[in-house]
Amino acid sequence: MHAGHATDYLHILVVKVVRACNLRCKYCYYINDDTRDYGSSMTVETVTALYERYRDYLSALGRQGAIVWHGGEPLMLGRRRFGAFMELQSETGLAPFIHNKLQTNALLIDDAWIDFLRRHDIGIGVSIDTDRSAHDANRVTPTGEGTYDQTVEALGRLRRAGVSTGVLSVADGVSDGRLAISSLRALGVSSADILLPMTNNARQRNPETAIDLEGLPEFLVDAFRAWVKGDDPSMRVRLFSSMILQAFGRRTTFLGTGGADMSSLAVIETDGTLCMDTEYSQLERFGIAEGYNTGLNVNDTDFSFARAEKLIKRFVAKVGGDRLPTDCQNCEVARLCGGGHPGSRYDDADHSHDHRSAHCKALYRLGRETLSYLNDPHPYL
Ligand code: SF4
Repeated sequence: MHAGHATDYLHILVVKVVRACNLRCKYCYYINDDTRDYGSSMTVETVTALYERYRDYLSALGRQGAIVWHGGEPLMLGRRRFGAFMELQSETGLAPFIHNKLQTNALLIDDAWIDFLRRHDIGIGVSIDTDRSAHDANRVTPTGEGTYDQTVEALGRLRRAGVSTGVLSVADGVSDGRLAISSLRALGVSSADILLPMTNNARQRNPETAIDLEGLPEFLVDAFRAWVKGDDPSMRVRLFSSMILQAFGRRTTFLGTGGADMSSLAVIETDGTLCMDTEYSQLERFGIAEGYNTGLNVNDTDFSFARAEKLIKRFVAKVGGDRLPTDCQNCEVARLCGGGHPGSRYDDADHSHDHRSAHCKALYRLGRETLSYLNDPHPYL
């Protein structure tokens, strides 16, 4: 079974426009002691090649795509260069085929940036962790100070300017799930992505790289109960709503519940290299497995997204990203959990992805709680 969305083309490109950040988040897979070429940014030549090739691909298909500007911190590119990259979308003829989104830590957001983002119709996602203590423990400046207050201030600025903003939070499993939901609700956001910490079975088995997942099941169950309490639909939490939709056999686009088709997304690194979903970057970072870098680059003379699509589909089929792991086949919450993110299933004991997710315990508890709620919602309200 696969609950995936039958998207049959590359419709999301995550563009790593700058390899630098004004924060040093403790769980960051990208900016850390191992970051190569720190401070580099995408050149006009690479952006032009990317645009022209994506334009050719989308126009041949007659389909729409999205560019998600990512880093590091993408606003560190500066408004002048970012503005030139946006103008280039019209000049290369890509503009009618795409919409733009941006994922930011929001520390640089001011009125001039808000004006810029509105002028170019760029959708915004702000990274903020589930509550003040979780955020300040993890999302710190290079000198170690927490940044919750600045992030909340930026969110308020965006809200007052009428800019619709989603938030992205990493669940640390240490915080209180009820507090997480009340804190996120208090920010007035309409949509929150709660992401499970990036890991896999190989990383968890090694004491030097394992992360503490003990508190995650309880965190998720408490957060879910707080989310459904009062039947308040004002804030969507994609992890929870995806599980509910998948329980009813509906398709979703959430990779964390195996819902999205992994071959619909590619990462474009700062030097133009085409890569798999970022979950695979940490497999390479810890020397566990290869697979992040496809070996293709948008600057190659023979590069095309049609070729990239074929290669990515082959990789996804090889790692079982298009199906449930064998051990999950008879699980009572498999429809809801989807086997978790394919990257989280990897184990280096047999170099295979055909395993339960490293998040299995947490996903199972959340899946059971979701089924219990769907079976009889009254005790939850
Ligand atoms: S809860 Fe565990 S066993 Fe069940 S589908 Fe998810 S990863 Fe597989």
